[in-house]
Amino acid sequence: MLDTLTISTQRTSAPRLPGIDFAQLDFGKTFADHMLVVDYHDGQWQEPHIVPYGDMSVSPANSAIHYGQSIFEGMKAYKNHDGEVALFRPLDNFHRFNASARRMCMPELPEEVFMQGLLQLIRLDSGWVPTDAGSALYIRPFMFATDAMLGVRPSESYRFMVITCPVGLYYAKPLRVRFEETYVRSAEGGAGAAKNAGNYGAAMYPTKLGQQEGYNQLIWTDASEHKYVEESGTMNALFIIDGHLVTPALSSSILDGITRRSVLQLARDWGMPVEERKVSAIEILDAQRNGTLQEAFGVGTAATIATIAVIGYQGHDYELPTPPADAFSRRATAALAAIRNGEAPDTHGWMVR
Ligand code: PMP
Repeated sequence: MLDTLTISTQRTSAPRLPGIDFAQLDFGKTFADHMLVVDYHDGQWQEPHIVPYGDMSVSPANSAIHYGQSIFEGMKAYKNHDGEVALFRPLDNFHRFNASARRMCMPELPEEVFMQGLLQLIRLDSGWVPTDAGSALYIRPFMFATDAMLGVRPSESYRFMVITCPVGLYYAKPLRVRFEETYVRSAEGGAGAAKNAGNYGAAMYPTKLGQQEGYNQLIWTDASEHKYVEESGTMNALFIIDGHLVTPALSSSILDGITRRSVLQLARDWGMPVEERKVSAIEILDAQRNGTLQEAFGVGTAATIATIAVIGYQGHDYELPTPPADAFSRRATAALAAIRNGEAPDTHGWMVR
């Protein structure tokens, strides 16, 4: 691993770590002591810096605020039983980050800045990586436009940052979801395959409407017919139908999830047929009626795998059976946990220490 980049580090004079109760973590509200900051201007990336976590000042004419040139990633670092810290597939996040940057007309980041920035920041804040089963250090790399200019055009200056927060075991109650037939998360040709800020802001209102009806999340459907499954909330949607793992094929409107990729790999390793193709709402409901829909679940970094218990469609709730102990989703959850905490061999080289 590249270990050459020198990153100037200003350590905090008031570490907050000793006062943190790792048993009482509210997701996304407790931040580790340091953050990485790298600015881009005059056509190039400048020196990276690690500084104490804290507020910063930006121009009120900052074009990220006005026009949404803002992208992010979400990933986790885990501590194994020997106290070693490892990241799960960070290069995949790096490549996806640069794909988001291209889609949003933002400069791509050099690999060593992303990887060395991450590794050195996490080494410094390794005390913040929790040890309890299921807990992790959530890592949020992001980049936003910093030009103080109201013209609608790509900014010429940007800031890349990484902040981190310890998170406890994500207990995902079996989900109640419903097919969304009015709003869309993204259309083909839109920016759904990018992790740009606006996708998430625009999803909040339809999600709130779904929650008012008693559903946890929406199963987004395609923009032209509202017929085909896209994603489930901010997770990729997977189904087990008659022993086959079925999931919507990637497109410009679907995020290429790293958990999705990993779960599909496990299925292939286990000799299970995997189908990446269009999946219609009707197909899922027919499979539920004729008993071939064995499992439905969302996959993503936050929850890893979240079981779907109920699917709502046009005013009717369709219930799914509780997955048995040997259900695919439960075996995949356990297999990923074992790779992450060092109990199982990392045969695909997913962990970076
Ligand atoms: N879809 C969307 C829209 C997401 O925001 C996420 C979370 N990054 C995912 C899917 C899952 O991706 P990953 O497995 O890489 O976390």
